[in-house]
This record gives sequence, structure tokens and C-alpha cells, in this order.
Amino acid sequence: YGDSNQKIDYVFKVVLIGDSAVGKSQILARFARNEFSLDSKATIGVEFQTRTLVIEHKSVKAQIWDTAGQERYRAVTSAYYRGAVGAMLVYDITKRQSFDHIPRWLEELRSHADKNIVIILIGNKSDLENQRAILTEDAKEFAQKEGLFFLETSALESTNVESAFLTVLTEIFNIVN
Ligand code: GDP
Ligand code: MG
Repeated sequence: YGDSNQKIDYVFKVVLIGDSAVGKSQILARFARNEFSLDSKATIGVEFQTRTLVIEHKSVKAQIWDTAGQERYRAVTSAYYRGAVGAMLVYDITKRQSFDHIPRWLEELRSHADKNIVIILIGNKSDLENQRAILTEDAKEFAQKEGLFFLETSALESTNVESAFLTVLTEIFNIVN
């Protein structure tokens, strides 16, 4: 955690998208600062956070962009997607609607972002198993059909958050190397 004064070999821009309240900002807080908050306010202003990690002996700075709450108005702009090499498409496993909207987000992503962008579908809030509305198998099947990586995460319990970012960043790394 924290960027030291090391030399940076790569900077990869990754965008978080998905409906409001699915946990995008908390996934980012967990990854970038190892923090979590249960009463996170809607994000204000376009923001990104960075974390530098080492992949195959190279230092990779992940620059992760979080929507500024614009997801409510479906007004995430093309500037948001510009230069992005990775995307995390997030739904809430307890909210059917957030999963049903995934095809729309995917369409928006495919129309605004680079066609070679690496995409992972993320079912967040896996800690709320007793409120589950989306079967893991259904999401996995959708991801396979669309050629997306897939993981279920819990920003609260810190489950698979690191793996999700590593999956995307390693794939991007392999593409550019
Ligand atoms: P965003 O609008 O997609 O950025 O969603 P937030 O990150 O602001 O999270 C919305 C709400 O869901 C907040 O109350 C978070 O504390 C909560 N939340 C986020 N991730 C998780 C999780 O993994 N598990 C649980 N139980 N709650 C979560
Ligand atoms: Mg947010």
C-alpha cells in the first residue's frame, strides 16, 4: 500500500462501472487503502485512486477510476472511459435489478471504450449469502457467453477483492508484454 519512490514500469487505467450502491467505491477503498465503510456517501466528483504493485518483477501502477455517482443518471462520460485498459463491471448479488442492468453497462462500455479492454464481471456483497438473488452459476454462464472474467467479492469481508484486481491487471500485463 502507498506508492513508494520506485520507478514505475506501467500505468494501467481501470474503470469501475455498475449501478449505484452495488459497492464500487468500497471495492476501491478496500483495494487502494484496505478500508471499508458501511455508511459510504455517494461519491462526489470524478475520482481515481492508485496502488502500485509488482507483476512479474515490473512495477505496475493501477489507476482505478470510480464514477462520481453519475451512474444514477446514466451520464458516465466518454472521458471516463478514455484510455481505460481494464473495466470492473459490478452488480450486487442481493439486487436482481443491478444484474439485469449489466448488459446495458456492457453495451455502454463496448461503445465508449477500447475494443480490447479487459473486463471482469463482479458480483459484490458475497457476505450477504442469505439475501442472495443471483445464482453464481447464472452469472458465470453470462460471463462465459460474453467473454468476461468473473468473480464474486465482498468488500466488507475483503474476499476476492485483491484477486479481482489482480486478474484484470495480470491479463492487461500479459497483453502488453
Ligand atoms: P457504489 O454506489 O457502487 O459506489 O456503492 P458503495 O461503495 O457506496 O456501497 C453502497 C453500500 O453498500 C454502502 O452502504 C456500503 O457499505 C455497502 N457495501 C459495499 N460493499 C459491500 C459488501 O461487500 N458487503 C456488504 N454487506 N455491504 C457492502
Ligand atoms: Mg460510489
